[in-house]
Amino acid sequence: MNYIDIITCQPKLLDGPLNNSIIQKAKEKKLINIEIHNLRDHTNNKHKKVDDYAYGGGGGMVLGIEPIYNCINYIKGKKKIDEVIYMSPDGNKLEQKLSNKLSLKKNIIILCGHYKGIDERVREHIITMEISIGDYVLTGGELPAAILVDSIVRLLPGAVSNESAALSDSFQDGLLGHPNYTRPEKFNNWEVPKILLSGNQKEIDEWRFKKSIKTTKSKRPDLLGE
Ligand code: SAH
Repeated sequence: MNYIDIITCQPKLLDGPLNNSIIQKAKEKKLINIEIHNLRDHTNNKHKKVDDYAYGGGGGMVLGIEPIYNCINYIKGKKKIDEVIYMSPDGNKLEQKLSNKLSLKKNIIILCGHYKGIDERVREHIITMEISIGDYVLTGGELPAAILVDSIVRLLPGAVSNESAALSDSFQDGLLGHPNYTRPEKFNNWEVPKILLSGNQKEIDEWRFKKSIKTTKSKRPDLLGE
C-alpha cells in the first residue's frame, strides 16, 4: 500500500484518528502516505458550495457530483488508482478479510459522504467499491473512513512493532483472539495464569489456541460454522 487519498467536506473530523499513535508512526516510517482532500477546494463556484437540495424534495442536503468528479480526476492525474471506495451504510459490511485484501492494494481513494449522502451518479459511474461499517447510520463517512484506514494500516508490515501481534488478533485466522495479561503477576489476589509464566512457548501457544477456540465457541459460534 502506497497511498490512501481521502475525500471529505469535513477534513477536521479526520485529524485525531489519523494523526496519532500507530497510524501517525506508520506515516513517519513512510509505510503509507495519507492525503486528505477537502471537497471545497474542488468546487467551481465562488462560495465553495459542495452540497445542494435533493431533486424530488424531502429534507437533507446531497453532496454534488461536480466537486467529487473534479477531485477524483485530480487524484487520478497524479497516480494510478486501484479502487475508488465510497463509505455507505448500504455497502458491503467491513470484515477482516476485506481489510486484508485492501492492504495489498497500492493506491486507494476513500470518499466520505455527508448529510443525505452523495449524488447517485457518482456511485453509478465512478465508485468501484462500497463499504459499510455496520447497520447503523452516522452523520458522515469520516469516522467510517478512519476505521477502514486503521484496519488497513495496522496490517502493513512494520506498522505494528511485532508483526505477529496483528496476526494473532481476533478474526485474522477465523477465530477470536486469546486473552492477554501484563504485570503485575498478582493484583488483589487475582493471578495471571501460571502457564504464561512458564517460559514454555509451545505450551503457551497451545493454551492460547485453546482459549481462542473456547471464546469463539461461546461468543461467536457462527465463526466456526456452528
Ligand atoms: N441517506 C443515506 C445515509 C446518509 S448518512 C442512506 O439512507 O443510506 C451520511 C454519510 O455518512 C453517508 O454518505 C456515508 O458516507 C456515511 N455513513 C453513515 N453511516 C455509515 C455506515 N454505517 N458505514 C459507512 N458509512 C456511513
